[in-house]
Amino acid sequence: MAGTFVTLTEIEAARPVIAPHILRTPTVPSVSLSERMGLVVHLKLEHRQITGAFKLRGVLNALNRLSPDERRRGVVTASTGNHGRALAYAAGLQAMRSIICMSNLVPGNKVDEIRKLGAEIRIVGASQDDAQEEVDKIVAQDGLAMIPPFDSAAIVAGQGTIGLEIIEDVPDVETVLVPLSGGGLIAGIAAAIKGLKPRTRIIGISMQNGAAMAASLTAGHPVSVVEQQSLADSLGGGIGLNNRVTFGMVRELVDEIVLLSEEEIAAGIAHAYAHEREIIEGAAAVGIGALLAGKIRLQGPVVALLSGRNIDMEQHRRIVAGYHPGETVPCRA
Ligand SMILES: *Cc1c(COP(=O)(O)O)cnc(C)c1O
Repeated sequence: MAGTFVTLTEIEAARPVIAPHILRTPTVPSVSLSERMGLVVHLKLEHRQITGAFKLRGVLNALNRLSPDERRRGVVTASTGNHGRALAYAAGLQAMRSIICMSNLVPGNKVDEIRKLGAEIRIVGASQDDAQEEVDKIVAQDGLAMIPPFDSAAIVAGQGTIGLEIIEDVPDVETVLVPLSGGGLIAGIAAAIKGLKPRTRIIGISMQNGAAMAASLTAGHPVSVVEQQSLADSLGGGIGLNNRVTFGMVRELVDEIVLLSEEEIAAGIAHAYAHEREIIEGAAAVGIGALLAGKIRLQGPVVALLSGRNIDMEQHRRIVAGYHPGETVPCRA
């Protein structure tokens, strides 16, 4: 399979394109995780990015590549929430029409935020694939430009700018922990970091409930998985059966994939709140969760990427109060 491969040069080119419109987020040492793990652990605080997740980076880079004609017609996408929110925001900056298609698995708080940004909303079906079908229809009928959530060279290059910042902030990093769903985030970060420092280990982390990339790597080609509810709702969805970019890059560049239970994800959210004073969503908590679960071979310094903070605050309150996912009684005193 001769897929598209994003290079360090493309990622470096994306940086000045997106810089005026994003926050350059900090990487900070975690005292509590460093003590617990016995090696230096840093957190890259990308959950503080504008729109509450890193997705704005890829979106801005992709919009920059549109022709004037495409800009006039507008943009459309399928999204589990954060990509749609970033696209709605970025399209708004440039006074462009945007339509965001979502399945009914996307949490209500995320849908509301996207609507507030002025995008048109379509809720269709019970999976990301159903939402994508609606996108294809809109592209065919109305000629809007599709901005994919991960499987695009422009998107991967935009997300890869996070890797450049990690190396600047922690030049001696040896292990980088990255949440993994469709793989746009980890493919970009891995290309940037391995381009600058080839021996750095890049570890992808997904939830056990429906880890499409992990299943696809095992199968040797993209496969679909049954979508399930998860605390890491931003990690849901397939990788696309006709995946062109991220599957090949992840296979080539990612050293290991780790899967977490719902309890382990909840523990990551609770730790971030109690010990780091950070509110993060489930998808962003998998790096901390994997460290706490003892699922990462320790080789430091470690950087864990916190990717987003768009969690329903009622759900967050229950988790930090010690409720297990799906239970109605506290699991610890
Ligand atoms: C989209 C997203 C991810 C996963 O990114 P992929 O490029 O699909 O692998 C992780 N965390 C958050 C918060 C996200 O919104």
